[in-house]
Amino acid sequence: MALFLSSDVEQDAPPYMNTERGIVEGLPRLLELLDELKVRATFFVVGRVAERHPRAVYNIIERGHELGSHGYAHVRLDRVPLREAEDDVRRSLRVLRDFSEVKSFRAPNLKLPRQLLPVLREEGVSVDASLASYKPPFPRGLTVEGGVVRVPATVTSSVLRVPWALQRPLLALMPRVTTLFVHPWEVSGVVHWRPDIWVGTGPRLLGLLRNAVSYMVRRGYRPMTMSEAPSLLGNINFRALAQPGGR
Ligand SMILES: [Zn+2]
Repeated sequence: MALFLSSDVEQDAPPYMNTERGIVEGLPRLLELLDELKVRATFFVVGRVAERHPRAVYNIIERGHELGSHGYAHVRLDRVPLREAEDDVRRSLRVLRDFSEVKSFRAPNLKLPRQLLPVLREEGVSVDASLASYKPPFPRGLTVEGGVVRVPATVTSSVLRVPWALQRPLLALMPRVTTLFVHPWEVSGVVHWRPDIWVGTGPRLLGLLRNAVSYMVRRGYRPMTMSEAPSLLGNINFRALAQPGGR
């Protein structure tokens, strides 16, 4: 059983806010917790954030975590012309690869137009984490599309904000390959009129995350980073998959 722990490093609650408390206050606390738990995670960083906060990116890498791309400007890739979306993806990779290799991608709002899969493939990105098991087409596990392994988010990040007495039974139902995600701004806490944005955010989330990860590990889940996902699929011929008609 595998656990992909992931974090999208972006401005606070995009597109509703423009502050960066999560990066300044939330991210260091999250990294400290992962050190304590001895768990490696995948951090999908927004390119523009990396340019503004290079030290934050080095902190992620130096602690042994995987660097992934969360686009350059956190634009909805399905709502801009395809050419613009493609440029955003490529630009993010150029920026982030100055820090470390990048093998994984997660689109803002988990919205990746299919036409961008060949772009990811061409850019040497082997894993896409933009699908979610709770959104159409409701993928249940790993899939391969256009030569890219797709690792769906299993539940929304707000599940980790649920009080532990209720959260634990939910975690007991997780599939054999589970992806959880959290945002640094959820850890720092945000002030906003929309309850779905702020409820359950703040440093108490760290305690819940500690419980959740420890519980999953005790149940036999092995923490992995996104670039390790293809190893779960065994001896698939990726060259063949990249051909039209490949599964
Ligand atoms: Zn995002």
